[in-house]
Amino acid sequence: MERVVCEHGDVEADLVLIGIGAIPNVELAEAAGLTCENGIQVDEHCRSSHPDVFAAGDCTNHPNTLLNRRLRLESAPNATDQARVAAANMMGGEESYCTVPWFWSDQYASKLQAVGFSSDGTESICRGDKASHQFAVFYLNENRLIAVEAVNSAKAFMAGKRLYGQELNPELLADPNVDLRSLVKSVA
Ligand SMILES: Cc1cc2nc3c(=O)[nH]c(=O)nc-3n(C[C@H](O)[C@H](O)[C@H](O)COP(=O)(O)OP(=O)(O)OC[C@H]3O[C@@H](n4cnc5c(N)ncnc54)[C@H](O)[C@@H]3O)c2cc1C
Repeated sequence: MERVVCEHGDVEADLVLIGIGAIPNVELAEAAGLTCENGIQVDEHCRSSHPDVFAAGDCTNHPNTLLNRRLRLESAPNATDQARVAAANMMGGEESYCTVPWFWSDQYASKLQAVGFSSDGTESICRGDKASHQFAVFYLNENRLIAVEAVNSAKAFMAGKRLYGQELNPELLADPNVDLRSLVKSVA
């Protein structure tokens, strides 16, 4: 047991996880007169408030029509995928950037993969075995899959990406004998 000394009193804890967060460097963009609010504001084409200036990656505050809100993400997949769209549009294209946010990270021996935001979920279902560090948590909202967080469980993550947004039967999802791939509805 550790004692954490805080400004408003001490807290005892078994484990302390510190999430520091990040602040985008937008000074240059602000000095150039671009609209910035929690990042450089861009539209779905990665275009800033100046039509000739594009931005991509961690520094952008961009719209996501799938989630119906603006996001500023700190993830490598977002940085690379958004950069492709920005580059295409700088060359005269009119591509839109809109994907379900997904994330990965290797932490020591563990591979972490996630899609969507678990905070949007109202119900969670765990598949796999937490004790052996191989499991995935599926988050539902009104029975729609809105996020998956997978630990050393790449197959569950891949299935979750395909199942994202789909209405699912929670009992089938919770049943370890049900193959996740069998839940993927074929698109006509
Ligand atoms: C410790 C750490 C661990 C991470 N782990 C993961 C992970 O496991 N998985 C994952 O998906 N993501 C991870 N990330 C996030 C990932 O690194 C970022 O999402 C990604 O690098 C963003 O790419 P970017 O090109 O948008 O920005 P950056 O990689 O930050 O590049 C921006 C560049 O612009 C430069 N710059 C800024 N201002 C100016 C200026 N005025 N003039 C000139 N240059 C400027 C900066 O120096 C920097 O080189 C991690 C980040 C950190 C810090």
